[in-house]
Amino acid sequence: MRADNRIIQEFQKILNSNRLAHAYLFEGGNKKQRHEMALFLAKTQFCENLKDNLPCMECNACNTIDLSDNPDVLEIDTEKRSIGVDEVKIYKESMATRATQGKTKVLVINDAQKMTPQAANNLLKFIEEPDGNVLIVMLANSKNQILPTILSRVQTFKISESDSDSYIEELKKRDFTDRNIQIIIETTELKTVEDMTDEDFTKFLTETKDWFVKSLNGDLSAFIKVQTNIKKMADNRKQQELFWDLVEQLFSDEISLKYDLNREKLLDSDVNTAITTTKLTNQVDLYLDTITKWKSNVSFQACLELLTLNLINREVGV
Ligand SMILES: [Zn+2]
Repeated sequence: MRADNRIIQEFQKILNSNRLAHAYLFEGGNKKQRHEMALFLAKTQFCENLKDNLPCMECNACNTIDLSDNPDVLEIDTEKRSIGVDEVKIYKESMATRATQGKTKVLVINDAQKMTPQAANNLLKFIEEPDGNVLIVMLANSKNQILPTILSRVQTFKISESDSDSYIEELKKRDFTDRNIQIIIETTELKTVEDMTDEDFTKFLTETKDWFVKSLNGDLSAFIKVQTNIKKMADNRKQQELFWDLVEQLFSDEISLKYDLNREKLLDSDVNTAITTTKLTNQVDLYLDTITKWKSNVSFQACLELLTLNLINREVGV
């Protein structure tokens, strides 16, 4: 049980000065590391044996949290592709009713990027007007996946990825450029580029970007591209996953550009300034729906064709 030391020290300062906020986001690291951090933070609220405001990690209260047996520490952890507004409402209600001994109620949201915009908005209201003492801990692979409206209201901590050094070494050995290594580390998993050279990856990225720009500009050639170039280049599951990961980053970049967040990784400029943020959010939803279908084994090509047509044709939002 080792949570990230640097983050622990920062939280110690926060706790010592009694400035704990209602919501935090932990990004980076792996799922297990993020979850450990969330439980660590929960323990700061319940430990019977705090030392300088930090939990002992071994008392009954700490153990109860490890065993998911503390009724005041709730967790959303869904296998589904999205966390909907109904789900958030259920947890909110259950937090409101469980005021055990006036203690803080903690809600841990695993894969917070799965929250639909509606769910996120509902949660935001809760963060702004909390019903008693609540602590919401959101966990996500990358803050780029989290809606800007949420990011603007929570403090984010990045967990250092101990694996990334060895990733970088491996990709360097395979002659990947620094630029591509950076992109791979930040957007996807190493397994998706297992069979690729640096040149393959560059080509793959160029094609993906080209499809994205064309789709967002209503250019029908994006559809033709799916049936030719993309079908060929993403002909196995790993490559398809890479394609989706890059598209996710492209959407995230486009959102970042619209909101001036300066977090772009793949795009240099807004690919279609005429698209409103509402429409863009709807397009992200279309993308998320597509991933759900693909994960439930609808063919990649069918999924991508439908997504492309929807992006090109359908007037979503205002
Ligand atoms: Zn303890």
